[in-house]
Amino acid sequence: MQMSDAFQARQQELAAPDRALVDGVLAGQRRALAKAITLIESTRLDHQERAQQVLGTLLPSTGRAIRLGISGVPGAGKSTFIEALGNYLIDQGHRLAVLAVDPSSSVTGGSILGDKTRMETLCQREEAFIRPSPSAGSLGGVAEKTREAMLLCEAAGFDVIIVETVGVGQSETTVAGMVDMFVLLQLPNAGDDLQAIKKGIVEIADLVVINKADIDPRAAQVVRAQWNNALHMLRPASPNWSPSVVTISALKQEGIDAFWAQVLKYRDALTPTGEFADKRRRQAVDWMWQLIHSGLNQYFRRHPAVKDALPGLTQEVASGRVTPAAAAYGLLKHLNPESDF
Ligand code: GDP
Repeated sequence: MQMSDAFQARQQELAAPDRALVDGVLAGQRRALAKAITLIESTRLDHQERAQQVLGTLLPSTGRAIRLGISGVPGAGKSTFIEALGNYLIDQGHRLAVLAVDPSSSVTGGSILGDKTRMETLCQREEAFIRPSPSAGSLGGVAEKTREAMLLCEAAGFDVIIVETVGVGQSETTVAGMVDMFVLLQLPNAGDDLQAIKKGIVEIADLVVINKADIDPRAAQVVRAQWNNALHMLRPASPNWSPSVVTISALKQEGIDAFWAQVLKYRDALTPTGEFADKRRRQAVDWMWQLIHSGLNQYFRRHPAVKDALPGLTQEVASGRVTPAAAAYGLLKHLNPESDF
């Protein structure tokens, strides 16, 4: 079957409620979008199959948004900033979706991002769609759903997508791997840059924003200079973009236009060279491989012979009686005794 035939068949297979869901999403209805995201977040097998059909049908309508990742420690001002930015963009005619990857929700079931009471004015605007982080599963699982939610938002006509995360653990790298531009929101405290350098976050930042510049504008400029120095020490990821630093006050809504100008400059610098599109292609292929890895991992762990042998062999490896390699190859052989590993 040709690819396009397969695509057509999949479209025809959509059941009536899912067809209505797809139409609702394409018409930009926030309710339909919310329902479609709930479907992709569901862990039920039949829901997952339906979700993949819905996503497959919507895929040609995705990809038209600019995708921004925004990260910062709790209190850095993420929600104040996103609210200010969102209102600014909506006033310019954009439609904005905000999704969250919250590492705390996968560990504790609670949420550092505490989405419900945040971004109150933005929540009330028709042109905004705000979705809290899915609470179940591992960070990988949460992020996978966020990627898919992002595609749904694009199909619904949201042309700016913000994926927000907290500066904790793996979540920043995960988010950087799904967006066009990764923005680090910092407090104007000298020394914080060293923290970020230690954690290797600077390498993935395309733009650094020093927030709360209204409190002490001079201190903010000092921190800005420190950041510029730190960024210059690194080899830029692209020959056409050196990460820059802007100071803003999210609270007073100052510097939001300068921030957005940097975002557009970034896109305009990387689009003619093909880097912008290349990055997305790479991210899509990486995502496929992540899903393959996690699928294989699950398949391996669920395999009856592996399940039987794993606890004993783990003990043997821990106590030094069997080498890790012998145990790993032995376990893998259970999947297919004929194959070489
Ligand atoms: P988040 O945890 O990163 O989402 O941070 P919030 O947006 O909730 O902000 C934390 C606190 O900092 C709140 O009390 C905000 O009002 C305050 N805040 C945020 N941005 C600014 C700013 O630009 N200037 C000042 N002075 N306070 C700010």
